[in-house]
Amino acid sequence: MARAYIGFGGNIGDTRQLITDAIICLAQRCELQIMAKSCFYQSAPVDAVGGDYINSVIEIETQLTPYGLLHICQAVEQEFGRERPYANAPRTLDLDILSFEGVVQSETELMLPHPRITERSFVLLPLLEIAPDFFLPNFGELKAYLPKVAHQRIEKLPCRNCNCGEKDVYSQSAH
Ligand code: ADP
Ligand code: MG
Repeated sequence: MARAYIGFGGNIGDTRQLITDAIICLAQRCELQIMAKSCFYQSAPVDAVGGDYINSVIEIETQLTPYGLLHICQAVEQEFGRERPYANAPRTLDLDILSFEGVVQSETELMLPHPRITERSFVLLPLLEIAPDFFLPNFGELKAYLPKVAHQRIEKLPCRNCNCGEKDVYSQSAH
């Protein structure tokens, strides 16, 4: 079993609902199990146009290969109406694999760990919420990067009734 982290983001439509639905979609896959989910965060676009983004991160365990997981993430993006008119365009739903066990690779189609983890508050905050001692090969402790992104506007949204942060809430057995 490999442990992986997936980051969600979007700024078109009801993104909270879209992310919630996408997570339920993933939870229905027998190839992976969702172990934890962060709260939702609202963040200013970084190197992108459009309105504020909503972001969240989940922890999964899976028997998939890294590319197998990427293809599932891309299928979910498609299912939720993702279009790519140009780089960094506003999006309904973006799923990025932030890390996959200890895998380090620099292939264009799948870079692991995700190359911009340490540069973005909208990744660091939700990821550190569910994995406070996260350690990245070649980078070290993730929390050491928080001061570098302190200028990026981000706000943790009040939880509705989402059980976020709880372990195993979206496991197969829970549905
Ligand atoms: P963004 O960089 O804004 O997330 P896209 O979602 O359109 O842009 O992704 C562009 C490409 O990035 C995809 O075709 C995918 O193959 C590639 N990619 C590379 N590394 C990763 C990763 N760790 N997670 C998800 N996609 C990745
Ligand atoms: Mg992406």
